[in-house]
Amino acid sequence: FVMMGWLIATRSARGAEETDDRPKDVVAAAVVDAGRVLLAQRAHPVELAGKWELPGGRVESGETHAAALVREIREELGAEVEAGDAVGKPVTLPNGLVLHAYRARLRAGTPAALEHLDLQWFTADDLRRLDLDDVVPADRDWIPELCIILDDA
Ligand code: C5P
Repeated sequence: FVMMGWLIATRSARGAEETDDRPKDVVAAAVVDAGRVLLAQRAHPVELAGKWELPGGRVESGETHAAALVREIREELGAEVEAGDAVGKPVTLPNGLVLHAYRARLRAGTPAALEHLDLQWFTADDLRRLDLDDVVPADRDWIPELCIILDDA
């Protein structure tokens, strides 16, 4: 009985992240339009609130990255996008999630901050001026690549 109690206690202490068997992949969209990229300001969790990110979220079981990207942008921004090429290299978070960024093109609708504090379009110069402390840590490495994409756009 002591053993049973220990098993139950350790399992419930693990939290949702480790007990779920969903894919570990997260997709994020670099929506580029008219030489600018759309960044979204996180509302939560508290340690990331107010920081800018490429909008996106977790890939569901059986879902392609492209399909997950389209679904997440529909849910978070209320807009329709088409997924394109990968941006930079995947980033592994301390919790084991692996983030993948993709270019995305707007097909319909106007992006709105349905789940974020704010949305803002950034030129390459805006990105260069952006304080990296104001960017979600996992997304910081993508900034130079985004500048190159925008310089070429
Ligand atoms: O947005 P959501 O909370 O679904 O993202 C899942 C995980 O991916 C979180 O841990 C979040 O911090 C991370 N993430 C990130 N950068 C992004 C999108 C998500 O670090 N652009």
